[in-house]
Amino acid sequence: MSQSPLLRPSREEAEDAIRTLLRWAGEDPSREGLLDTPGRVVRSYEEFFEGYGEDPSAILSRTFSEVDDYDEIVLLRDIRFESHCEHHMVPIIGVAHVAYLPSKRVVGISKLARVVDAFSRRLQIQERLTAQIANTINDVLQPHGVAVILEAGHQCMTTRGVHRPGVSMVTSRMLGIFRTNSDTRRELMSMLNRPSVATAHL
Ligand SMILES: [Zn+2]
Repeated sequence: MSQSPLLRPSREEAEDAIRTLLRWAGEDPSREGLLDTPGRVVRSYEEFFEGYGEDPSAILSRTFSEVDDYDEIVLLRDIRFESHCEHHMVPIIGVAHVAYLPSKRVVGISKLARVVDAFSRRLQIQERLTAQIANTINDVLQPHGVAVILEAGHQCMTTRGVHRPGVSMVTSRMLGIFRTNSDTRRELMSMLNRPSVATAHL
C-alpha cells in the first residue's frame, strides 16, 4: 500500500515505528521498561518538532512604532536553541545572537527568541536555520539590517561518526547595513565581545 509522504500517520502508526526501531537496536519492545517508551518518544517528537505548526512571520507581526527615534542596533544575544539535524535526527544545541537595526518599527524581544524556536524546532541544517531566521526578520520588519550568528554543537559529530566532542560550528547571515557597512558590523562584534551580564547578575 503506497502512502502519500505528506499524509500524517496516526499516533499508533508512529508508536509502531518506534517499536520497529527498538527491535532494530536489538531490544525487545515488550520488555517492561520499554512498554511506555514508544508513547514517550512520540510525545517528545511533538515537542522537538512543534515548529512545523508555527508561523514565524506571524510571531513578528505585532510591532511597536513609538520608539522615540531609536535607531541603533537591537541585539538579543545568547538565545539557547535546540534543534535536530536532518541527516541523523540527533540534537544540535547552541546559542543564537540576533540583531537588527530598526527602520521605524521594533518588535518585543521575546518574539525574536520565539522566531529562533519556531525554526529550530524542525529538522534542520545549521546554515539554513541561520538564513531562515535572518530572512524572516528582514522580510517582516524591513529594518535597515539584520545579523544572525549561530554557534552550536552537533551530536551527529560528537556522539557518532568522527566523534569530535568540543567542536562547535559557527554560521552567520548579515543582511542590509550589516553586510554593506563594516563599521556597523564592527559595532555589533564589539557588543558581542563584551561579557554577558545576563548570566552573571540577572
Ligand atoms: Zn547530522
